[in-house]
Amino acid sequence: MNVYDSSRIADMLKNEGYEETLKQADADIVLFNTCHIREKAAEKLFSDLGRAHLIELERLEQTGKKTIIGVVGCVVQAEDNQIIKRAPFVDFALGPLMYHTIPEVLKKISLEKEHESYVNTDFPAVSKFDFLPENKAQGACSYLAIQEGCDNFCTYCVVPYTRGAEYSRPVAEVLKEARRLVDTGTLEINLLGQNVNSYHGEDENGKERNLAYLLNRVAEIDGLKRIRYTTSYPADMTDDLIECHKNIDILMPYLHLPIQSGSDKILKAMNRRHNSSDYLRIVEKLKKANPNIGMSSDFIVGFPGETDADFQATLDVVNEVKYIQAFSFKYSRRPGTPAAVMDNQVEEKVKKQRLDILQNLLFSYQDKFNQSCIGKVMPVLFDQKGRHKGQLIGRTPYMQNLHIKTDSANINKIINVEVTDATTNSLGGKEI
Ligand code: SF4
Repeated sequence: MNVYDSSRIADMLKNEGYEETLKQADADIVLFNTCHIREKAAEKLFSDLGRAHLIELERLEQTGKKTIIGVVGCVVQAEDNQIIKRAPFVDFALGPLMYHTIPEVLKKISLEKEHESYVNTDFPAVSKFDFLPENKAQGACSYLAIQEGCDNFCTYCVVPYTRGAEYSRPVAEVLKEARRLVDTGTLEINLLGQNVNSYHGEDENGKERNLAYLLNRVAEIDGLKRIRYTTSYPADMTDDLIECHKNIDILMPYLHLPIQSGSDKILKAMNRRHNSSDYLRIVEKLKKANPNIGMSSDFIVGFPGETDADFQATLDVVNEVKYIQAFSFKYSRRPGTPAAVMDNQVEEKVKKQRLDILQNLLFSYQDKFNQSCIGKVMPVLFDQKGRHKGQLIGRTPYMQNLHIKTDSANINKIINVEVTDATTNSLGGKEI
């Protein structure tokens, strides 16, 4: 979501006459788009801000030019005025629902004038999407936000507090943006939302529609070759959405469906609206709809109160589902969330041991899946140049990175590739 937001911010600033630069010393404006999901990400912001401030001072001394430093995103929403207290040189800070106001804020705090730091963490009544300029493809693969915010209030998560209540963009607006992305070069669209499968946008007749409906409409767009959606909440995997994995041939056979823990006791403490059997039933239905589907998930180890038996239940789910990819983390206390003040916190040492065990198991399944791809032919969408001369990197339908030696003219194309080698993290292949 932050990648998508950053691309919309860049579009907005280009509209205002700015250009992107890779060197901070050349920049009149430096913007940080921030994530608050884990403590590490938030702390990293303050060290990055300190570094940016040093470059700002050097630039001023060497060239006499001022730099505007801005921060947007979820850290701002969570920290509010604290950002300015900890980093008083920050010129403006805007929450994730307020970034459409950047041009207006820049007018207020022009480079020429002395000014107070400006902070805005409102949850506006009108959607920011109504104010953003028309965007173009971010490349052969583009993100498209269709839903924002979350009403689930998992006890460890900051999203409902930082991104606010669920909001779904209207069907027509999503289709218009999707068509524009395809017309400007996108082959693959990844529909985004913090809780994407709770999508309930209005159609052209004011009727509320779900994600299954939207996927079918997006799939009709001429020239679009691939669709993905992320991130899904298990309790919102409706039967018609599961059927999409059978009926929409451009929907990729890969689904990221976070379970977080395999223990029902922990899932309850997390305030998740599903237990492990519900989750396994959904996976079974998905595999029935598309036997080739590959599953991915998020896991949190060491949630307050997690015992060895609870952790074993997580390993049992992994052994049952055999994920082809996964993201796993030690539980990290987020201020303001109910779990942060639970009194049965798990020792750091235990969290680390469990994470090592879980990751070894997850990697073993990922590696097994990657090895099983050797000899198979897969359509790969190449959208990046590799580190070596003549090398392109692309993504398989299962989100694996695959590199080949090929003509650079093949960038931003889907090419059939025979997989010739595999590691845990990537594949190699040859064009056929
Ligand atoms: S469903 Fe996802 S975004 Fe919503 S509160 Fe739970 S973890 Fe956070």
